Amino acid sequence: MNALEARNLTVGYGKAVVLRDIGIEVKEGSIVSLVGPNGAGKTTLLLALTGLLPSTGAISYFGEPLATVSVEDRVARGLCLVPERRELFGDMSVADNLELGNFSRWVRGERDTKKTMAEVFDRFPRLRERLDKHASTLSGGERQMLALGRALMARPRLLLLDEPSLGLAPLIVREIFRIISHLRDGGVSLLVVEQNARAALEVSDYAYVLENGSISLQGPAKELAGNPKVIDTYLGRRKAN
Ligand code: ATP
Repeated sequence: MNALEARNLTVGYGKAVVLRDIGIEVKEGSIVSLVGPNGAGKTTLLLALTGLLPSTGAISYFGEPLATVSVEDRVARGLCLVPERRELFGDMSVADNLELGNFSRWVRGERDTKKTMAEVFDRFPRLRERLDKHASTLSGGERQMLALGRALMARPRLLLLDEPSLGLAPLIVREIFRIISHLRDGGVSLLVVEQNARAALEVSDYAYVLENGSISLQGPAKELAGNPKVIDTYLGRRKAN
């Protein structure tokens, strides 16, 4: 079963077409990465999948078409975006940021916020220690953990991550990707947009390369990591490990 399937997806801003005829699949329980240079259209693709940008083509989520499903209903069904700039509420505490992640479930009458939050703390003990701190005082790694934790409050089935490694030190990047693997092992499907192709390909099952608004390469992540063009363009001279 595919968690996500997009066919012939075309997306733009007004008359400017940014993505043309994109086809991607995310198998249930897998990590798929989408790598590509600045401005290739990676964020645009995630925004179209969440319904924040209009698109033509077909998107299905666990077999159901999304064309008429609102952004809120996509979140309610477990399709959640973790945006690139982490977009936390800096003046609000860690606890309040997490509670906001539970909002769509709360609206539907699901009042197990405390239990869900306890599960998030089991995954991110650091967040429990920072519970009352303003989000703006957290380190880069902690903010990424909070952004992930907030998305987990919605009990996602498919997480869309935009550049989770952006601006983080190498050790923290490792930790974030370790957490991403654990999420997959816990049954969440993930589509990860990354410029750090090395880190993304290491944990992914399958990958796409997006260039100039089209998919230029795709394959099992291990195969792509050995592809000379990918090595030259995205992995640098060092051999992919
Ligand atoms: P980055 O890694 O820099 O975020 P990206 O691959 O995510 O790059 P996008 O942010 O999706 O790329 O941008 C793709 C193209 O769409 C770029 O040419 C960009 O200038 C254009 N674009 C992005 N946002 C808008 C917008 N709000 N209005 C018009 N054009 C936009």
